[in-house]
Order: sequence, then C-alpha cells, then structure tokens
Amino acid sequence: MESQIHKIHQQLVNKELSCTQLVQARLDALKQNTHHTVNALLDDMALTLAAKVDAKIANGETIGLLEGIPFGIKDVYMVQGTYTTASSDLLKQYKSAYTATAIQKLLDAGAIPLVKENCDSFGHGSSSENTIFGAVKNAINPDLVGGGSSGGSAVNVAKDYTVFSIGGDTGGSIRQPAGYNNVYGLKPTYGRVSRFGLMAYASSTDCVGPIAKSIEDIRIVLNTISGKDERDQTTYASEAIAETTTPDAGTVKTVGYFKNFIESDAIDATVKADFLAAIEKLKATGIAVKALDFFESNTLVSTYYTLAMAETASNLSRLDGTNYGNRIEGENLKDTYAITRSENFSEETKRRIVGGNQVLSQGFSDEIYRKGLNLRDQIAKNFERDFNAVDIILSPVTPSTPPKIGDSLKDPLAMYLSDAYTVGFSLGQLPTLTIPQGTATGLQVTAAKTNDELVLKFANFLKDTI
Ligand code: GLN
Repeated sequence: MESQIHKIHQQLVNKELSCTQLVQARLDALKQNTHHTVNALLDDMALTLAAKVDAKIANGETIGLLEGIPFGIKDVYMVQGTYTTASSDLLKQYKSAYTATAIQKLLDAGAIPLVKENCDSFGHGSSSENTIFGAVKNAINPDLVGGGSSGGSAVNVAKDYTVFSIGGDTGGSIRQPAGYNNVYGLKPTYGRVSRFGLMAYASSTDCVGPIAKSIEDIRIVLNTISGKDERDQTTYASEAIAETTTPDAGTVKTVGYFKNFIESDAIDATVKADFLAAIEKLKATGIAVKALDFFESNTLVSTYYTLAMAETASNLSRLDGTNYGNRIEGENLKDTYAITRSENFSEETKRRIVGGNQVLSQGFSDEIYRKGLNLRDQIAKNFERDFNAVDIILSPVTPSTPPKIGDSLKDPLAMYLSDAYTVGFSLGQLPTLTIPQGTATGLQVTAAKTNDELVLKFANFLKDTI
C-alpha cells in the first residue's frame, strides 16, 4: 500500500475532496463500526479543525503534508478537555488537563484527531479484551481478538477509519496488534519520542509510536512526533529521516535471527515455516543470514513482567480517588482507598498491582526485582554484542495467530507467553517495526538503538523481496 498521507494531501490540494467531507465520512464510519474501537469520538474538535483547513485551501494558502489528515489516539494520551479513560472504570469520567507532547506536535502540524481508541486498560493486556468498552474485534476476522493493548488503534487503521493512529508500546502493544491486523506498527527507540502526557504503565519501556498502512506514513508521523522534550528527561534529539525512494538494502550486509525463537515448541508450525521461507528469500538476494543465540522465552517474559508489574504498581498508586478517578466513599480514608481501587480496577490490573507490590516488597525485592534488573542489563549487553555481528534482527511478531475472543481471559499465563517475541526488544529499548509480510502476523524488523532509520529503510527493501 502506498502512502495514504501523500494521496489525501493531493486530493485536498487539488480540491477533489474537502477536509470536512473527509473528516465527516471517517467519523460516520467510526460511529457505525461494530469492532468496538471507539471510546470517545472527538467530532466537534475534528469538524472545527477541518473547517479551518478548508478555509485555508479556499484562500489559496499552502497546507502542510499532515494538515487535514485524520488520525486516532489510543485512549491513554492526554488531549486537553477530552475524556482520557485508559479504558477503565476508575477514569471513566476523567478529562485531560493538558495535551501530550506527541499529540501536540501532530496538532501543530495540522493533523485532525478523530477518536480516543479502545485498548487494554492501562495497557495491561495482549488482546484488547481488558476494557470496559467491549472487546475489540479483529479487522480481518471479527471472531478473533484485535490484539493488544493498542487493539482499537490497529483495527481503525486496518479498516481505514483513521489514516494513522498513535499507539503505545511497553512490551509489544503497537507491534502485536499491527501484526494481528496486517498493518505497520513502529516502536521507536526508547526516548526518541516524548512520553509526556502518556499515562505511565512501565516507564522504563513505555514508547509512543505510529500505526499506519505504509512505511512512508510511519516515517512522516515519526519525524513529526520525535525530538527532545524538557518535560521527559529520557528523550534525545534525533535527525529527521529522509524519504526512501529506491528499495535497496543499503548498508545491510548481515541479518540475524534468534534460533531458539524458531525452534521453540510454542511456535505455530505455519508461522515457523513461513518465517524460514522468508529467510530463504532474503538469502537469495545475497544478504548473509546468521542464526543467533538468545535468552529463552520464559526468561524474557518473566523478566519483562517482573519489571512491568513493579513499575505499574508504583505508577498506579496515585490513582486512589483523591486527585483522580471515580472515588467511592468508605467508612474511613483507608477504606475509601481500598474500595475505590478494588471496585474500579479490572481483574488483570489488580493482578499486576498485587504482583508488582509483591516483587518490590522487603524480603522479595533482592530475590526478584533486582534479579529482573540484572537480567535486563544482560539482555541489553547481548543485543550490543549481536549488533556488532549483524545489522538487522528479523523475528516473527508472535508465536501464533490471534486467539478467539474470550480465550485469553481464561488463561492469563498463556497470554503473557504470547508476548515472547516482542518483550525482549522492549527491554533492550530498540527500534522495531512490524511489517505485514512474511508470516500471518507479520515480521519484526529491529536495529540497534537510535537506528530507526535503518529499520525503515530495510523494511522498504523487504517490501519487494519477501
Ligand atoms: N502485552 C504486554 C503487557 O500486557 C504488553 C502491553 C503493552 O505494550 N502495553 O504488558
């Protein structure tokens, strides 16, 4: 699929379509959709902004590439004056007091926000069933899950309800739903995009990134939202990535893949066969392929969930009904906190808060939390060594195809294990992109830290190669 942003931009400039018509049609489609992708429509804001773009065009003024382009926002980003619920009962009535940096940059570029999108509550999940707004249904087969946690965002892009959406990825939440719905989804290098105004899940791996139908659209959005932000000390300044016009492998000479991911018992036979077929096609282009050793899936998943649960327990401790959230009065203050939190958090979120407080508590933290931190460092070092030997790591996105709606809720452990291929790259804070090619749930293209450009270039090469 070619760039939707360029195509729509031309249609607006050529007056083949007014921005108001464009926005109204997408709002109507969102309103009528039965995939449960919408937490709130931003129709007033969107139509007001669209009218301004139309006035500019009518006046003969030039418009920027993103001006008038409709997009979606996972419902964990602050947009001043809009409901930001994190798909939870606790924040069902919460309205943002300010706007997230990444979203503000898109607004400044003239893009038009249409919708706050359904997701797993606070990003906790891999299926977008952990939500008060109804399970998100897969874009291709509505009996299956939409993936998670940014499921509503991926389905909206796949169904053309939004041109692109801004998801959030802590352990795979952009890449996995992108794979489940056959679209592109990028987790940039940690720190490339500001997290200011993203509701914190696990602050050490939380990343802001785009989901779209083409690499070019991913590039345009990434360039717009990247940059150093004084309100997020982990951000760094980055150069804009230039458009790739010719599909060549560029500087990529060697591609690696993790042998144990492919040899694991957990991988679906078709995903495995398709992945190996993609590797063969790559070899046929003259690129060297190297099988790499990596940590076992169980170690990756346990390390990720130990740290993610610890961080979310800490981050969500502020939600006690005092400053934020739907407060339920008890007999005394302590009772009020307890009732507010136990009534308003989902089972999955409570499981993580309890688990996180356990691994952080005295007597356990040395044995579990510190061990997790140590493993994370070892994983990062392992990646450093790997990227001395290979330029790109290629991997399946998931071991199997999307489950039926209802199945993940019955077996949380199986859901955690389904994140086996995504969480390692999060712990390494690497740039990694899902492309809708190679296996039924796509492939992940990963490069060394800060080399987001190489990821996009190589993905462009793969478009015609596999
Ligand atoms: N599925 C993973 C989890 O539940 C990742 C979620 C995410 O990236 N927000 O933690």
